[in-house]
Amino acid sequence: MIFAGLQKTSLIDYPGKVSCVAFVSGCNLACPFCHNPELARGLYPERIAADALLEYLTPRKRLLDGVVISGGEPTLASGLPDMCRAIQGLGLPVKLDTNGTRPEVLQHLLAHQVVDYVAMDIKTSLNQYAPLLTTEATARKVARSIRLIMESDVDYEFRTTCLRPFVDEKIVVEIARGIQGARRYVLQAFRSSVLLDPKFFSAGDPGFSATSMQRLRQSVVPWVADTQVRGGAGD
Ligand code: SF4
Repeated sequence: MIFAGLQKTSLIDYPGKVSCVAFVSGCNLACPFCHNPELARGLYPERIAADALLEYLTPRKRLLDGVVISGGEPTLASGLPDMCRAIQGLGLPVKLDTNGTRPEVLQHLLAHQVVDYVAMDIKTSLNQYAPLLTTEATARKVARSIRLIMESDVDYEFRTTCLRPFVDEKIVVEIARGIQGARRYVLQAFRSSVLLDPKFFSAGDPGFSATSMQRLRQSVVPWVADTQVRGGAGD
């Protein structure tokens, strides 16, 4: 497994933990609002072998509370389960960031307990994934991943980056109904600095004001009590 980048320290990527974030290159979606376009396109700004990452982590394991594996889409990497197990072997819990399109990989990771926290994106309501982002078959896989996570013992959050036309109040309520009773739902503010497809947004800023983000949050609280607004993130 080769990583494409490393953020040595983060206070925001693994809730409640000081973490190191390792980035996997390549993605099976092409969200126009993606803020990691190089990774989404499968480029390698850096090349860090799995062994080199473990060597880096070993002397620092007492300074860190956990490791985040992000992307791109990490579940596309065949060495992911072994890498997660090796990180856990250092005594560090693993958080996985995923778009939920590979439920078979997720099922394997959950069954073998090699991830400790899963953050799964729900990009829009399930009946709008196609044609906005992908196919109906992939949308069904996203639905399966939601069920797998909610039925597992793993700690988790679902998260949605809030921008039009992927999100409005009606859509966010549809998403929340579909994850009713979930442990945590995070509404992420859209940030427009780096985008995979800037032309998609040529009509203007599709994001929501801070006030509107709070309104979105209020509209989903009846379905997911622990709903949070997070500023400017995105996987
Ligand atoms: S936002 Fe995530 S799922 Fe979408 S293209 Fe970027 S890395 Fe892939």
